[in-house]
Amino acid sequence: MIKFYSTNLKTAPVPFEEALLKGLAPDKGLFMPETIPVISSRDISAFSDMEYHEIAWDVSRRFLRGQIDNDVLAKITRSAYNYDVPLEHVFENKHVLRLDQGPTASFKDFAARMMARLMQHYLTVEHRKLLILTATSGDTGSAIANAYYGLDHINVVVLFPLDEVSSRQRKQMTTLGKNVRIIGLDAKFDDCQALVKEAFTDPDLDYLGLSSANSINIGRLIPQIVYYFYSFAQLRKGNSDDSVIFSVPSGNFGDMMGGMLARRMGLPIDKFIIACNENDEFPKFLNTGNYAKIDPSINCLSSAMNVGHPSNLSRLVALYGGVMDETGHVSKQPDMEQMRRDIFGVSVTDAETKAMIAEAWAKHELLLEPHGSVGWAGLCRYIEEVGNDPDQLYISLETAHPAKFPEQIQAILGFDPALPPSLEGLEVKEEQYDKLDSSYAAFKSYLQTNYE
Ligand SMILES: *Cc1c(COP(=O)(O)O)cnc(C)c1O
Repeated sequence: MIKFYSTNLKTAPVPFEEALLKGLAPDKGLFMPETIPVISSRDISAFSDMEYHEIAWDVSRRFLRGQIDNDVLAKITRSAYNYDVPLEHVFENKHVLRLDQGPTASFKDFAARMMARLMQHYLTVEHRKLLILTATSGDTGSAIANAYYGLDHINVVVLFPLDEVSSRQRKQMTTLGKNVRIIGLDAKFDDCQALVKEAFTDPDLDYLGLSSANSINIGRLIPQIVYYFYSFAQLRKGNSDDSVIFSVPSGNFGDMMGGMLARRMGLPIDKFIIACNENDEFPKFLNTGNYAKIDPSINCLSSAMNVGHPSNLSRLVALYGGVMDETGHVSKQPDMEQMRRDIFGVSVTDAETKAMIAEAWAKHELLLEPHGSVGWAGLCRYIEEVGNDPDQLYISLETAHPAKFPEQIQAILGFDPALPPSLEGLEVKEEQYDKLDSSYAAFKSYLQTNYE
């Protein structure tokens, strides 16, 4: 049975269920698997003929052996992955993996839907309840609210800043109902975050069983391994590709960590391109070996990647034998040489992001939104520096649907991208949300009144 250790190394390893329901380790570190299961190349070849949810089952069961029944897990992956995972051929052997067909049209659906169902399973077995409390500046809140929507044993409260969330983003949360409550605050995102943090440390609210379901949960990391295997297996079908290069637009580094784990599990990833926006603390770290976070983070077009200190970086450092705590302090340097052999780090400016949206459309009729454009620009930069190999398999990840960014696409390309089915009809659905002032007292009494 694989246990999960904390990257801060100050707590004993715990079973998956505990890591999942806790989220953060008691020493504030992130949970990592003690051993990484290896998938043989024969098994990877078999993935070519499997559906996405079957591969999701096969990859996760190797981490969860002895901790969940195989058929329960199969039900979970089947219900979590009931949407398409398209691969778009661009030119030569270069492709874009579109992770934007889930209910909120962002790649966060992949992780959130699986985590939600795993939590529901363990809570049902234990007759426990949980209240997920999360603050959002846009995408995370809707992915979480949608993932937990309608599940048993779990309620969800999402706080958002009234002025900082687009109306489309807001409607993705406020048109749900059932076990999901949404609160708009006349405040900034940081104020919303502060209220959530205070609630977590308030003993009067212990009875609620609060959990954050945030991006560092191990239950979100494991599902993010799957699409790397899936895309390789799909594209290799009938070909002899023996390696792949991925480019990943990165913010908090959860997506990229999924890929790094896939590599350790045996997926032949030749190089990993980590593409950041102007928040370039990682590419600098990779080059110099010195880590300095960017505080406050820089506001870029690819807003979900405006992260001045990626929380999952401590997991990457752990994978390379180092120790980085939650503040970014490195107490043991990872193997930088090996990291540089495996990873190409690149920072893409907003000007380049816009130019790449225009270029990709003009040259290849490839429609990208700002996050995917950073990924594609990273791939182009790599090819420029290292040289192009027309036969090499390259896959760049698109993490959101272009229709989520109508203003930017309109300004650059002169048209409005068509809505994916998941976002259709949102405009006419009835919204329901509460408004509160930003005092903690008001928020606390809201929680106590609505959840007795
Ligand atoms: C969250 C997000 C990212 C960044 O993913 P990380 O796992 O935080 O690196 C990139 N693109 C979009 C659209 C996102 O929502």
